[in-house]
Amino acid sequence: MKLTFLGCGDGFSVLQGHNSALIQLDRTNLAIDFPESNHLSLHQLGMKLNDVRNIFITHLHEDHINGLQKLALFHRVYPAAQKPRLFVPTGLVDDLWQCLRHGLELTTRGKRVLEDYFEVVPVETCFEIAGVEFELVKTLHVPGMLSYGLLCKPYFYFSGDTVLDAAYLQSISGSVERIFYECHMQDDVLPSHTSLEEIKSLPADIQKKSVLMHYVDDYLEGKAREKFHSRELPRLAEPLASYHFTKE
Ligand SMILES: [Zn+2]
Ligand SMILES: [Zn+2]
Repeated sequence: MKLTFLGCGDGFSVLQGHNSALIQLDRTNLAIDFPESNHLSLHQLGMKLNDVRNIFITHLHEDHINGLQKLALFHRVYPAAQKPRLFVPTGLVDDLWQCLRHGLELTTRGKRVLEDYFEVVPVETCFEIAGVEFELVKTLHVPGMLSYGLLCKPYFYFSGDTVLDAAYLQSISGSVERIFYECHMQDDVLPSHTSLEEIKSLPADIQKKSVLMHYVDDYLEGKAREKFHSRELPRLAEPLASYHFTKE
């Protein structure tokens, strides 16, 4: 199994794509979130939009879903053997369609619904693709807003957008190889995201297996990343960088 960052920028990133990862599994794949910037990243990987087989949506902020309309239309014009499967936390299905329907409902061939474009799989607690189980984890992003991360034991935890949930990280860090965690990498503490200072408050063993993502464009230059890596324990995600996971 291989996880490749299609983007690791925050919601305002211009140059490193919005946060999203492509997981390559046995003869299939899964994109975590689908921002518009994925189109370029997939192109750079030699892939087309209709090569995406499965998508999981963590929450409905636009930097995580603003490529879905294009993906849906591309699949209609250039259909793959199967409609892409869209794994959506149960509580988000209706709201997701409300976000997308303005561009997808009315077509020259009549009215369409979400299920015309995707095989929609509402997910309550977990789902499985190619024998790999993904468990939904509620995150602490915006009060009252449903948002999720994905736990894929024994390989990784992918946080999605959240404030730091140290207790949860402590509880799972022994059962995964890597922790992909959001961190905006700025000094100021934001009420809906995780700061570097907070990451640095975690035990060293958790920091060492952490890869930070969803951050500002200030670390694009190799030297800035090197400087960070020379003095801190976590690593920084990079666009198109891959992480390999093998079964024990
Ligand atoms: Zn975001
Ligand atoms: Zn968000």
